[in-house]
Amino acid sequence: MAQDDVFKKIVSHCKEYGFVFPSSDIYDGLAAVYDYGQNGVELKNNIKQYWWQSMVLLHENIVGIDAAIFMHPTVWKASGHVDAFNDPLIDNRDSKKRYRADNLIEDQIGKYEEKIDKEVKKGAKKFGERFDEAQFRATNPRVIANQQKRDELHARYAEAMQGPDLVALRQIIEDEGIADPVSGSKNWTDVRQFNLMFSTEMGSLSDATNKIYLRPETAQGIFVNYLNVQKTGRMKLPFGIAQIGKAFRNEIVARQFVFRMREFEQMEMQFFCQPGTEMKWFEYWKRVRLAWHEALGMGDENYRYHDHEKLAHYANAATDIEFKMPFGFKEVEGIHSRTDYDLSQHEKYCGRSIKYFDPDTQESYTPYDVETSIGVDRMFLSVMCHAYTEETLENGETRVVLKLPEALAPVKCAVFPLDKKDGLPEIAHEVVDELKFHFNTHYGDPKDSIGKRYRRQDAIGTPFCVTVDHDTPKDRKVTLRYRDTMEQQRVDIADLRSLIENRVSVTSLLKRLGAQIAGWDK
Ligand code: ATP
Repeated sequence: MAQDDVFKKIVSHCKEYGFVFPSSDIYDGLAAVYDYGQNGVELKNNIKQYWWQSMVLLHENIVGIDAAIFMHPTVWKASGHVDAFNDPLIDNRDSKKRYRADNLIEDQIGKYEEKIDKEVKKGAKKFGERFDEAQFRATNPRVIANQQKRDELHARYAEAMQGPDLVALRQIIEDEGIADPVSGSKNWTDVRQFNLMFSTEMGSLSDATNKIYLRPETAQGIFVNYLNVQKTGRMKLPFGIAQIGKAFRNEIVARQFVFRMREFEQMEMQFFCQPGTEMKWFEYWKRVRLAWHEALGMGDENYRYHDHEKLAHYANAATDIEFKMPFGFKEVEGIHSRTDYDLSQHEKYCGRSIKYFDPDTQESYTPYDVETSIGVDRMFLSVMCHAYTEETLENGETRVVLKLPEALAPVKCAVFPLDKKDGLPEIAHEVVDELKFHFNTHYGDPKDSIGKRYRRQDAIGTPFCVTVDHDTPKDRKVTLRYRDTMEQQRVDIADLRSLIENRVSVTSLLKRLGAQIAGWDK
């Protein structure tokens, strides 16, 4: 199946099974804004719990906060967002569609890379075991030609983005013959800058002095609370502050479902450290954050780092963790070494000292900061994309099953009475009442056939189903069915909790991650 079709199916599955709805759906939705439904919110909460606990439980020196979305307007002057949080946009005169000029050029770079990959794959197939990829890349004329075009374009693009130089960006689009991906038209306007922050007025007077912004990142809420937390928590460097919260960006091109939204949620952690130690911590957090993703068991080969060549002026290192979505490898998380830029800027603008007095060296200095920043919604999307599976069964039927990491599944266990009669519903309710205190357990009404009830749970990714049948009143045993293998096993009701709980708890994930990172150099 084409990857585009897979993605469309995932989007409609999300709606049909109560994961994600368009916002204000009865009014035909609001562009790039989405609501999470009854199953989506559970999955999202499990992701957040896994992240939060991996930060504040696994690291003694990390604490959390929850800052307000509205902040003093000067925060965004100091952070540079008022002057520089811009995207270069371009319109197509024929299709009336608006694009980010940088995205159009990046897609073009991607096309050259795809061509190269295709050649390499062809070569690998042709030469089989004798294939030497490095030699092939160095000698195949088509690969060499495309690599040269890609590298030249990349160099021009990187230079144009310094500043950025809007005329140069426009020229690249012209020279490369980049067409509107929807209409194929090349009738472009000039490139303009567009600030991504939403603004509103605070109080009753609507004049410029009351203008405030909806935060475009949660990070600044941490920086402005650095002193409060450090002093009240008597924190010693290095230490981190974690936060989960909403962020807002007036994205120009809002496509790809919850990948790029105008209202979204971030999980950010700022790790403050002694100047000069930031590279060590940057490397540490790169590894820990990748391990966090990999512990979910979604395939190590589906992740890669993408180191930034063009760094923001305040950063001295930056990398993305990318996940293989149906539309290619895409950024899910950013890890940035932000130096002392943010705290120094706030110190300058607020006029108060934001220094750390180091009791060991008896010196005062501005801490350096390493940030890990992940979008909850993008994480949600990567989990959904990986989980969505269509299977043909031995009897020729097909089933759609969400092979979610068990600890993230919205419902962990569904309990079905086989029949309405013989006291089976009562026993099923008893089982639910026992298990529900330990993990999310649902009761499944016997009005549908057992097969249908299994399929419905498969479609929302429930890892375990329990069926109460006519023998249960006699032997107190039930059938436990496993989602992925569809294996069935007869077990004692009394053993259900221990069989399920370990596999579905976020604690089990944390233990796996904790064991892995325990010995890592800090
Ligand atoms: P992009 O280049 O895709 O616009 P970014 O580099 O601007 O992303 P950051 O500012 O580093 O993103 O934000 C950190 C994380 O927040 C991203 O890795 C992503 O997971 C998430 N994020 C950013 N913008 C959005 C958005 N519009 N919708 C959903 N998630 C987002």
